[in-house]
Amino acid sequence: MIKLSNISKIYRKDSSPVIALDNVSISIEKGEMVAIMGKSGCGKSTLINIMGGLSEMSKGEYYFEGEKVDFSHKNKLSKLRYENIGFIVQNFALINSKTAYDNIALPLSNMKNDKKREIVERYADKVGIRKKLSHFPYELSGGECQRIAIARALINKPKLLLADEPTGSLDSVNEKVVMDILKKISDNGTTVVIVTHDNSVSASCGRIIRMKDGRII
Ligand code: ADP
Ligand code: MG
Repeated sequence: MIKLSNISKIYRKDSSPVIALDNVSISIEKGEMVAIMGKSGCGKSTLINIMGGLSEMSKGEYYFEGEKVDFSHKNKLSKLRYENIGFIVQNFALINSKTAYDNIALPLSNMKNDKKREIVERYADKVGIRKKLSHFPYELSGGECQRIAIARALINKPKLLLADEPTGSLDSVNEKVVMDILKKISDNGTTVVIVTHDNSVSASCGRIIRMKDGRII
């Protein structure tokens, strides 16, 4: 499904460069549910951002379903992201001035309204927040916000769902709700990669990748 081959990432913001990833290689198969764990600063977000086509590695190669990802080809890269990759993050990244409905519908901007409503409602049902569609994010709990973000991430039927600390700001009840949803998504054939600090989260994953100082250990 995805293959990272000898990936390094060096940030050169100030005078002293930071080696965030140091020669990392990983293969993840279709339908796998994988946790990436390790201390803060070990390179987890850098790695998942490369997987998501959001930031480019300094060295190495990234293959998505056998095809080399070309970060210099911006149109092809955004097509890959739009059609194949869903992304969720710890603070949900919802737009506060838009309702839950409009947040979920964001990736469907060019679609006719009737069809759009049908699809948004179907995905809201999948994550159990259909009754909340007219609410704004600030009127909803963290667990509900994350479920909206998941519905939005899934609406284009991605093959790969990436989650950077998806339960990091949730209580244990909502953590379980979100993890049950992610497990179901994975059981339906979507590849799921989850960055987490939490052993109870990684326990639901089929494989744990541990990182330290930019390397896999
Ligand atoms: P994690 O997600 O495991 O906490 P990150 O991937 O965010 O780790 O960061 C890895 C290292 O790279 C850290 O030392 C961090 O300070 C540095 N880093 C991350 N993003 C940037 C950036 N945009 N510019 C400069 N340094 C960065
Ligand atoms: Mg991080």
